[in-house]
Amino acid sequence: MLLGCHLSIAGGLEQTVARAQELRINALQIFSHNARSWKMGALKPDEARKFIERRRQAHIEYTVIHTIYLINLASPDPKNFQLSVQALKDEVQRAGELQIPHVNTHIGAHMGQGVEKGLERIAEAINAVLASPQARSAPHVKILLENSAGEGTELGATFAELGAILNSIKEKKRVGVCLDTCHAFAAGYDLTTPHGLEKTLQELERQIGLERVELIHLNDSKFPLGSRRDRHEHIGQGRIGIEGFRLIVNHPALRDKPFILETPKDDELSDLRNLAAIRSVRYDS
Ligand code: MN
Ligand code: MN
Ligand code: ZN
Repeated sequence: MLLGCHLSIAGGLEQTVARAQELRINALQIFSHNARSWKMGALKPDEARKFIERRRQAHIEYTVIHTIYLINLASPDPKNFQLSVQALKDEVQRAGELQIPHVNTHIGAHMGQGVEKGLERIAEAINAVLASPQARSAPHVKILLENSAGEGTELGATFAELGAILNSIKEKKRVGVCLDTCHAFAAGYDLTTPHGLEKTLQELERQIGLERVELIHLNDSKFPLGSRRDRHEHIGQGRIGIEGFRLIVNHPALRDKPFILETPKDDELSDLRNLAAIRSVRYDS
């Protein structure tokens, strides 16, 4: 099973690998720089080389960069739109330098422009990123679009919206999807019963295609089905519940995909507890 968590890069990329080893995980998600800042300093070649080597030694089989939360690829504000496109270009380049296959991003909110205009804007942004020298320098890196909970004017809460964006992408091979369980549940997709999960995956297959789902974010949800509120909870302590995760991590269509936890970090043991919860319901892991 490919299983890991989002880990802080405070203390440097190499420290993150050490922490991953302590947790005995083989998958890893990171911000590639300070998540509260647009600025990304250039990576030192030495730093990248060491990270790649340490990661190999630690048997981390899957790594993904999560973009910063400031990004809004649908922003109606030209300045913010331009900063968002630039930030995504830089992340793709950095992923290439670190030999990381995926850059996962929240797509953004339409801020009153309307859904259609917002979706167009996102496709325009991604097409611009993929046509950039940064993306050309990293031809093996894919961008993953994460489904949202649908808070406020957030786009991508429905698989239909994500599918519409994908249809407008020119280089389709370079874009996939991340399924966040908390976001899907909050957006109204029931994952807690065999029937609900089956219906959800049928809709996903119809609108996007299950093979385009390249990453699963495993988060329980503090708020109920369809609440459109994005509040992550510890695995088994939220409204999805441990039996929901049993269904999700063993489903034949999902079980071989990488699973990343983005659960709360209340204390030193939070990640270990959440990982143990997932491992306890996984068959032959
Ligand atoms: Mn996310
Ligand atoms: Mn997520
Ligand atoms: Zn979330």
